[in-house]
Amino acid sequence: MKITFLGTGTSQGIPIIGSKHPVCLSTDLKDKRLRVSVLVAWDDYKYVIDCGPDFRYQMLRAKCDTINGIVFTHEHSDHVLGLDDIRPFYFKQGDISIYAHKRVLKSLRKRFDYIFATKNKYPGAPTVISNRVKNKPFKLKNLEVIPVKGLHDTLQVFGYRFNNFAYLTDMKTVSDKEIKKIKGVKVLVINALRIAPHRSHFNLEEALQFIDKVKPETAYLTHISHLLGFHEEVEKTLPEHVFLAYDGLEITI
Ligand SMILES: [Zn+2]
Repeated sequence: MKITFLGTGTSQGIPIIGSKHPVCLSTDLKDKRLRVSVLVAWDDYKYVIDCGPDFRYQMLRAKCDTINGIVFTHEHSDHVLGLDDIRPFYFKQGDISIYAHKRVLKSLRKRFDYIFATKNKYPGAPTVISNRVKNKPFKLKNLEVIPVKGLHDTLQVFGYRFNNFAYLTDMKTVSDKEIKKIKGVKVLVINALRIAPHRSHFNLEEALQFIDKVKPETAYLTHISHLLGFHEEVEKTLPEHVFLAYDGLEITI
């Protein structure tokens, strides 16, 4: 299984438009972060987790010209706004499968009503096949995917386990029962927003505590704000098996 980090930034990305913060002005490419998303590929299959406003450029940058579907964590803009840009895939492949909690599907139907329209549909609009994700395992082709429920402030969010890989973002609270589902996983990706606490995201300290509970072989931090600091400097402070993810990073599991 190959994982490509398409974006590792928080909702505004890094740099933030107009920001003079040193991290936003950094020339290190690892400090440039598009909105958070990963490409998960195995056999001949490719699935994207979330498709935020940078989706088009992320697909171009990763040279990804087919996808088997999109799996959503939740409905916030930084995770869904690129849905219109599935058009090139739709024109080539036909209807695109999407997987999400029923509340997220409802939100997508509202925001992208023309994609879900069944009457007088605009000819250039794509069509999706909606698949409802409940908090129990489901199949993507030949692979079982296990949803992991958490809270983003008070909003329910799904992370996902694909074999020995677990991807959780926008988490602030995860119960011990849900943590059990990912204990001892080989690679864990978890959100770490910044140093200071935040009401809906793990800060660095909380992310490291979470990693201690899950005990993965290796962990990568994502959904990073400029307030976490420079990539190079922050990484030096991390435990040996914990790394900051960066855009374009590829790992094979
Ligand atoms: Zn987010």
